[in-house]
Amino acid sequence: MTQDKNPNWFANNPLLRLNNEKDHHDFFHTSLNDPQSLLVPLWRGDPLIAGGKAAFLSAAAHEEFAKDALVLMLGVKDGRAHFAIDASPGPSSSTEEPTDAPFADIGQYMPIREAAGMISRDDLAIIGQARWLTEWHRRHSFCANCGAQTNIINGGAKRQCPACEAMHFPRTDPVAIVLAIHEGACLLGRSPHFPPGFLSALAGFVEAAETPEEAAKREIFEEAGVRLTNVRYQFSQPWPFPSSMMMGFIADAEGRALNLDTDEIVEAKWVSLEDIKALLNGEARGDIFLPPKFTIARHLLERWVGNG
Ligand SMILES: [Zn+2]
Repeated sequence: MTQDKNPNWFANNPLLRLNNEKDHHDFFHTSLNDPQSLLVPLWRGDPLIAGGKAAFLSAAAHEEFAKDALVLMLGVKDGRAHFAIDASPGPSSSTEEPTDAPFADIGQYMPIREAAGMISRDDLAIIGQARWLTEWHRRHSFCANCGAQTNIINGGAKRQCPACEAMHFPRTDPVAIVLAIHEGACLLGRSPHFPPGFLSALAGFVEAAETPEEAAKREIFEEAGVRLTNVRYQFSQPWPFPSSMMMGFIADAEGRALNLDTDEIVEAKWVSLEDIKALLNGEARGDIFLPPKFTIARHLLERWVGNG
């Protein structure tokens, strides 16, 4: 079992993040005016897809966007700076439909989940970072400490409050997602917002002053009444909807008795290793269908059966 490479989509971002260079106002502006630099355009978080590929634009194209369009430094790849640009920016924008957005004529602004299977993993990771960062800036215009309007600094790596000088950094919300195992079967559940038959590993946000392992144990007990031991970290996945860091675990369950919190889980069952292998191979097993390949839950199942 190789564990060197993170198998998760949105992981393995190829950009070199240049936080030191971003400290320099000049670096940001010089890079933005470098014709080799690239823009990653998003309309309300959706990337521009053209010909089945992610459409990254020449940096010179930033003049086609609204003057107050949010432009954020992402990093550098092969010597080319990459910037996120919001094609659906603030109050002065009249861009209400993605078809009205700049460069909509060369492709389509498409939901990330739909685009994920078409575009390269590298581009998906870059787009995930762009969405995460633009969404954080969009939601964090005001200081959480004093309420004043904050300013973007370091090319978008953080915001600073001019009134109280507090620094605000992009938010990351850790989530523990855990595949509980008991004697050759794993526990999968369905939350109320999933369609019938769609089963996944159980997950929950890490709470204040809690370790992810503790969160994994607490969530599975709260949601399914199952006690866990030997909680083993596997890998993580940036999940930009809007800012979750999914931390994947495999753990041993003490028994199979279930006591569901039906507000959180409407259905849960133990599914055998053989059935999971078959389902991962695309074979039918009852009405069960597993999470898609861009989810960490899928990769926890792959790892459990020995594929990843
Ligand atoms: Zn403040």
